[in-house]
Amino acid sequence: MSDRSEVLLDTDRCQAYGICVGILPDVIATPPGSPVAVLLGTHVDASDREDLAEAVRVCPAQALQIGQVQP
Ligand code: SF4
Repeated sequence: MSDRSEVLLDTDRCQAYGICVGILPDVIATPPGSPVAVLLGTHVDASDREDLAEAVRVCPAQALQIGQVQP
């Protein structure tokens, strides 16, 4: 069973609201002065998949997606 999910950030949509950062601070950051969020990692472990799904749900700009799941 696969256990890692890819994090996809659409920087054309992201408005650096930072809501996702509060949910996944180890994976997404909003550097001071940056107009968009940046990914600190490309994948999350299975234990963080629910948090990733929540971040996708709550992003006001619909800038996050769950990509491929690694085997
Ligand atoms: S919540 Fe959405 S718009 Fe806000 S920083 Fe995260 S990805 Fe960007």
